[in-house]
Amino acid sequence: MTISIEKHPCFNDASRHTFGRIHLPVAPKCNIQCNYCNRKFDCLNENRPGVTSKVLSPHQALHYLDKAIELSPNISVVGIAGPGDPFANPEETMETLRLVREKYPDMLLCVATNGLNVMPYIEELAQLQVSHVTLTINAVDPEIGSEIYAWVRHRKKMYRDTNAAKILLESQLAALKKLKEIGVTAKVNAIVIPGVNDKHVAEVAKTVAELGADIFNCLPYYNTAETVFENIAEPHPEMVASIQRETEKFLPQMKHCARCRADAIGIIGQENSDEIMKELQEASK
Ligand code: SF4
Ligand code: SF4
Repeated sequence: MTISIEKHPCFNDASRHTFGRIHLPVAPKCNIQCNYCNRKFDCLNENRPGVTSKVLSPHQALHYLDKAIELSPNISVVGIAGPGDPFANPEETMETLRLVREKYPDMLLCVATNGLNVMPYIEELAQLQVSHVTLTINAVDPEIGSEIYAWVRHRKKMYRDTNAAKILLESQLAALKKLKEIGVTAKVNAIVIPGVNDKHVAEVAKTVAELGADIFNCLPYYNTAETVFENIAEPHPEMVASIQRETEKFLPQMKHCARCRADAIGIIGQENSDEIMKELQEASK
């Protein structure tokens, strides 16, 4: 098997105009509640705000992938990034990864998660040669985390306030450490939320750099109606740029993230074609 890291258009800026990616929308549920997230839409930790993706079963997703590759042969990466969290739907996520790996041995595999429940699956992710994992870590201080997360559901128990933020943070940092021990390339996303964590994001970058994270992605918070944060204004681009200057002291920056849909396909930044959307409709029937 030849898996080439250089072909990942998200982790490698130089390849983003040449290689495409596909997100397979197989993971509808989520195991936490971020105060910036309106669950009517895709997970905001990675995905395009205000978009609701169709959900596919693992077998439907494989069928959709086959069609997508026919239409867009430059696809080098298959990712799972929602529409909820991949590891709040571990059966669907792992089954999809197994099916894709079996049929496409050279494909790069990638997942994007809030990190709460990835730990039990890391060994199998390694066996399946999932080479890239993105964790969204918005705070490394549970006091700040408690302002960002309304609740966390872990091993069938609900947590709130700092307990929720503490459990999430412990899970995220343990997962990052383990992913790096087994040689997975790890990106950390941080959502920049003015007045909540904007002065804290550099501390997040410092902490995850110490644990071996490879690349850091400062994503501006996106204001969405019907959320706890609906009255918080989005960060000014200068605020994000200034935080990027701070955080790049610790880690290389990803600056070309397009916050793709959970069912995105092709070159980053290009909209899904009508043909692809038709295939998606067909696959989800
Ligand atoms: Fe929403 Fe994603 Fe946060 Fe879950 S992890 S609450 S889907 S933004
Ligand atoms: Fe890549 Fe960002 Fe799109 Fe994910 S959301 S596929 S990291 S560009």
